[in-house]
Amino acid sequence: MKRRDFLGTAGGALLVGGALSGCQQPETDLPAVPAPTAQKVIHWKLVTTWPKNFPGLGTGANNLARLINEMSGGRLQVKVYGAGELVPPMEVFGAVTQGTAEMGHGAAYYWKGKSEAAQFFAAVPFGLTAQEMNAWLLYGGGMELWREVYEPFGVIPVAAGNSGVQMAGWFKHEINSVEDLRGLKMRIPGLGGEVLSRAGGVPVGTPPVEIFTSLQRGAIDATEWVGPYNDLAFGLYKAAQYYYYPGWHEPGTTLEALVNRAAFDALPADLQHIVINACHVVNGDMLAEYTARNNAALKTLVEEHGVDVRRLPDEVLERLRELSHEVVSEIAAKDPLSGRVYDSFTQFSEQVIAWNDISERAYLNVRGG
Ligand code: CA
Repeated sequence: MKRRDFLGTAGGALLVGGALSGCQQPETDLPAVPAPTAQKVIHWKLVTTWPKNFPGLGTGANNLARLINEMSGGRLQVKVYGAGELVPPMEVFGAVTQGTAEMGHGAAYYWKGKSEAAQFFAAVPFGLTAQEMNAWLLYGGGMELWREVYEPFGVIPVAAGNSGVQMAGWFKHEINSVEDLRGLKMRIPGLGGEVLSRAGGVPVGTPPVEIFTSLQRGAIDATEWVGPYNDLAFGLYKAAQYYYYPGWHEPGTTLEALVNRAAFDALPADLQHIVINACHVVNGDMLAEYTARNNAALKTLVEEHGVDVRRLPDEVLERLRELSHEVVSEIAAKDPLSGRVYDSFTQFSEQVIAWNDISERAYLNVRGG
């Protein structure tokens, strides 16, 4: 472990994100969009739960804004605000509801205080992978239910990114048994946090920008964030020694774009299509980026920073799986809409798992190393 080389502050770690390129370039040499002439230019604000320009997440929001600007020929210009620039990260949903910002980018499990059912549209512990989530949302009725859940808030959700399978997280101490989870203070959002709580742990809802400092100062014993690409950028290896997998709590987290309903309705039809389709592009692009970049980041973490990568013991995963089913099924009883979301998700899961058992899983098992 090269932990002594860490002399900076959390600010130092966070600068990593800001120093990286803010936005991906188009993959071909397309001409620049000319300035709009006679037509009216509409200006929108997009607030995010992510630090400005944070790799993958913040840059994903930047891509979304850039695509809308380009596809609309500059008629709809979207400006991105990082966490805390216009509103605090955990007030993004409220800002879009109120119209303080016309758009937001975040993850639905942050809004469980608005609706417990919202969590299904980000990540369900031991639930669907990225590919399966997209299938449920776009072809399994998930998107319609998600819109219904946000409807009372005047907000339209659109899938706009996916991290793929995350890592279980960073731990200051080894996890060898279920007993080691007892009393563990861990930053872990959404349903995963409730599962940890039932396993005897103490989930904490630390906003992304505060994770490194909290872990480093010992306010928490462990944290999950995303995966190697993002965790390297936050410098989490400087604050905890053990890096556990698999990400049982977030097997394919959907990131969301939020759109203020009134602002959306006021757009001409072509701009409405552009907003929705730009989200679709970012949804696929982000998963490709994570899949491509996690490998290299993991190599850096292990070879340059001496990180100890470990698999959670079977006993621990089995207990977490039991508790996950308990936690998820209880949401069904909260209210009729949550019940319908649960039914849709579980019924879709059964059929997609039956197919994936003889496709993805069967193939991965025979592919070899
Ligand atoms: Ca996470």
